[in-house]
Amino acid sequence: MRGETRQPGTLVTTFKGFDPKSIRKNRKLIQQKYDEWLKAGKLKKGDTWSGNAIQPINSGSGNTNHIFGADSSTAATQTQANLDGRGCIMRLLTFYRSLPGGEKTSIDKMMTETAVRETYRIKGEAVLTVDDYTSGRTFDDAVCYSFYPIDLHDAHGVKPEKLKPGTFPTIPRGALIPKGAKNMMVAGRCLSSDRLANSAARVQASCMAMGQAAGVTATLAVTRNTTPSDVPLSEIHTALANHNAVVIGELKDV
Ligand SMILES: Cc1cc2nc3c(=O)[nH]c(=O)nc-3n(C[C@H](O)[C@H](O)[C@H](O)COP(=O)(O)OP(=O)(O)OC[C@H]3O[C@@H](n4cnc5c(N)ncnc54)[C@H](O)[C@@H]3O)c2cc1C
Repeated sequence: MRGETRQPGTLVTTFKGFDPKSIRKNRKLIQQKYDEWLKAGKLKKGDTWSGNAIQPINSGSGNTNHIFGADSSTAATQTQANLDGRGCIMRLLTFYRSLPGGEKTSIDKMMTETAVRETYRIKGEAVLTVDDYTSGRTFDDAVCYSFYPIDLHDAHGVKPEKLKPGTFPTIPRGALIPKGAKNMMVAGRCLSSDRLANSAARVQASCMAMGQAAGVTATLAVTRNTTPSDVPLSEIHTALANHNAVVIGELKDV
């Protein structure tokens, strides 16, 4: 499954060399100029996802731009996303170098590729929905937890919606098994889920928990000469607990 609209990607980049005092002093002027450049097409929407002119030069993480249409489906589409990402960084660099105190701005670190937030999801035996996720539904065949808020990046930026305290979303085994597949499991952001649930479950700790659960299930299936769907859940949970994973039932209301 893949949405017609997908989240923008990001070319993670940090900058260095600007004079912080001068930037601080001219903050308002810099924003005004940024908005003018945006209007004139010298900068593009998404060059800073917040619209805040100094977000990229203040950011330690470098996760500040939105590359719309970023698509990792093929080498050609990924190359296009990389070109678009580098175009964004070049526009920003040109802008910062035009500022008083920004003349010596340069790239500190830039990732080799534009990172893509949203790609393909499998259609699984079960589909994790946003309601399942935000209500903290404990599936009968839950194999691990997720934890992150709904986190959909779009043309307006990103506004994560926090989960209510005590909400522990679970991932069902069925969302890791492609529909009709007997001896195959997936783990990570390709899990069977709707777009909004996926925007939350895609984060790294959740992907790792899914990977560990899928690995344990696959091993038990091979050992018992059965399919992943037929491995008793109690055995999966016990094996996960033996490897110090956070197991279903362990998290209680706070
Ligand atoms: C800009 C950005 C910022 C993010 N920030 C955060 C954050 O702060 N915290 C957080 O938790 N998450 C963050 N995420 C989300 C998170 O990083 C990803 O959703 C997550 O890493 C996905 O993990 P995965 O294992 O499903 O996929 P991936 O990490 O993409 O792993 C898939 C692997 O499969 C490999 N592969 C692909 N095709 C083949 C093939 N044919 N053969 C062999 N190997 C193949 C790829 O090279 C890759 O190594 C961010 C994502 C983006 C794009």
